[in-house]
Amino acid sequence: MNGQNETFDVVIVGGGVMGSSVAYHLKTLDARLSVLVLERDPNYTTASSTLSVSSIRQQFSAPVNMALSRNSFAFLREAADRLQVDGDRPDVALQERAYLQLASPAGADGLRAMNAVQRAHGGDIALLEPDDLARRFPWLSIDSIGAGNLGLRGEGWFDGYSLLQALRRKARALGVEYRKAEAVSLRREGERIASVGCADGSTVACGMLVNAAGPHAARVADMAGFALPVHPERHCVFVFDCKTPIPDCPLVIDPSGIYFRPEGKGFLAGAPPRDAHAPENRTLEIDHAQFEDVLWPALAARVPAFEAIRQTAVWAGFYEMNSFDHNAIIGRAPGLANMLLVNGFSGHGIQQSPAAGLALAELMVHGAYRTLDVGELGYERIAQNRPVRELIVI
Ligand SMILES: Cc1cc2nc3c(=O)[nH]c(=O)nc-3n(C[C@H](O)[C@H](O)[C@H](O)COP(=O)(O)OP(=O)(O)OC[C@H]3O[C@@H](n4cnc5c(N)ncnc54)[C@H](O)[C@@H]3O)c2cc1C
Repeated sequence: MNGQNETFDVVIVGGGVMGSSVAYHLKTLDARLSVLVLERDPNYTTASSTLSVSSIRQQFSAPVNMALSRNSFAFLREAADRLQVDGDRPDVALQERAYLQLASPAGADGLRAMNAVQRAHGGDIALLEPDDLARRFPWLSIDSIGAGNLGLRGEGWFDGYSLLQALRRKARALGVEYRKAEAVSLRREGERIASVGCADGSTVACGMLVNAAGPHAARVADMAGFALPVHPERHCVFVFDCKTPIPDCPLVIDPSGIYFRPEGKGFLAGAPPRDAHAPENRTLEIDHAQFEDVLWPALAARVPAFEAIRQTAVWAGFYEMNSFDHNAIIGRAPGLANMLLVNGFSGHGIQQSPAAGLALAELMVHGAYRTLDVGELGYERIAQNRPVRELIVI
């Protein structure tokens, strides 16, 4: 029942994969904490966590992203043990498969430099010349390809919705309360958020408040009186069948900006929105024409067998885009001692949710990062105009 004048040690706005990961990690670090998750849609119909492609990679330009994904990959491997409830072991269907990032001849030197940085930070990533690519992937056209980076470990894909449900179920088993409610206001007392007002008229007082509202995080920041450079950006995902087998197909990132990977017996593919600033990219209306106009020609140019494909499904979801530098914003909110952020992952959030949730929970419980120092992803960088740019945004 929704109550008045309740108090929780921690209130989390948003019960997607990020809010649920923070909730789960908080309870594993300190079982005494009372934690409430406010989630306006317990069916997660339009949540990014439901609509994700749920792939995980080592190939980032920012080493902090490599560390977040590496730590999360280890968690996903152990998810059945760590998230089991009464012997019921969840299956997040992790498949260790490679990413193949291709560069044009003009982009090849940049890719080589990226490979050196990634290897220096522990990435097991092979640099392949066009001949190597042709030998290894005979179905791939190497026309206008200068080089490719192929992940050898710690990359692949998984079932993001199962991860969300498993985190949520485990958090609840540990005593976290999930409540169907929409946060609509925050009461600020000096440098603290005192309470959260909900659309149903109830109020909940909080010791700490976490903004885990995904693509809608800027609205929650606005309620607290500061600006967060995060906005929803529509991305469409197209599923298709291909009659010809494509053996050992990685997740391929083409120099044209499109990506594709196997999904079940077929494939899925996507491309960046055509005009990121267009108003329709703030909606979840499907851009059906993107398949014929953009994707199919690019797919067929890269894999000749993709000339003959049949589209079987399509959906659209929001990336939570950080327009400042395309990277997560993790840590304390500006000017507020008890509000925390875990926002702006810009299309690489579901893979980083285990590690990001752990990092934030450590900051909240211990006052400092212990397992993984993600201090450079704090809001301070925005206030000080020091971007931590991520160059590989898919
Ligand atoms: C098409 C697509 C493909 C993607 N592919 C990948 C990928 O391959 N790899 C990867 O790592 N990431 C990928 N992502 C990104 C990833 O899915 C997100 O980064 C991640 O799911 C974000 O989780 P979240 O919990 O922050 O947001 P969400 O899952 O959106 O959860 C936020 C929750 O907050 C709730 N909420 C919002 N406002 C309020 C409020 N005021 N009160 C109460 N509740 C509120 C919402 O209902 C929602 O359930 C993809 C995303 C999309 C859309």
